[in-house]
Amino acid sequence: MSVTRRDFILNSLMAAGLLGMPTFAFSKQQSGQFQSLRRNVGIYSNRGGTIGWLINRRGAVVVDTQFPDEANAAIIGLKERQRRSGLLDAVINTHHHGDHTGGNGVFREYTKTIIAHKEARNYLAATTSNEAMLPDTVFDNHHQLSSGDERIHLNYYGKAHTSGDAVIVFERANIIHMGDLMFNRVHPFIDTGSGASIKGWADLLKNVRNTHDNDTQYIFGHGHQEFGVLGSSADVHHFQNYLEALLSYAHDAIAKGKSKEEFLETESMKGFENFVSFGARLSLRANLEKAWDEICA
Ligand SMILES: [Zn+2]
Repeated sequence: MSVTRRDFILNSLMAAGLLGMPTFAFSKQQSGQFQSLRRNVGIYSNRGGTIGWLINRRGAVVVDTQFPDEANAAIIGLKERQRRSGLLDAVINTHHHGDHTGGNGVFREYTKTIIAHKEARNYLAATTSNEAMLPDTVFDNHHQLSSGDERIHLNYYGKAHTSGDAVIVFERANIIHMGDLMFNRVHPFIDTGSGASIKGWADLLKNVRNTHDNDTQYIFGHGHQEFGVLGSSADVHHFQNYLEALLSYAHDAIAKGKSKEEFLETESMKGFENFVSFGARLSLRANLEKAWDEICA
């Protein structure tokens, strides 16, 4: 019964997309961009954090869900690429922020489960009463699943961008989805209200780099237009250096007896002048303040 209904919905979505009916008439911009990487793993970029996907002969998995309209557009594209009908083995949330989980409710009926770190689920549950949005599988330190011939690991390293970020490893493809643990040449959002730690974040990046090799390909939650949302261990290292620089700038200023106000006037950090800001919350000033507070805490 439910499968029939699902198939009906999928077919309707497809038909609506193809026929250009108003409800699902996506403009070019709304339809987003699919890009294959390797061994059946790829990305979907539209509005919000980068979506990762795996589609092989016997399974399919999606990482993060952007927003409802973008999730609908992604599902249409995924269905075109899927090699067999049926539900996704899992939708994985890298963390709770709305630009990564806003489409959960849309994905719900296309997936066997939605998985996230338990803290991410708690934060999300505090913002919505819509059960369909909430992950129904949670984990503490490590969670593993198989999808067709791929093995996927969800690893937790502690407080970083929030206190509920997971690192998603596609083992055989040797691709890692970092979610918002990577802002590529962008001043990141450090969500101290949700348990962030700059020190923990820098340590996490070092750990991830050390546990994977130079051939590992990385997917980033967000990226500078010129640098994009894909990269290597060197990009992860560069961002680790940025986070460490925030702390050492704050440390030095405090040691020199500077006032906080004076310190926040810092215009750039050496070696990171090309980082862009996506708004006041994601700015050098905001992040210097968080570094100062973290050191003083
Ligand atoms: Zn985020």
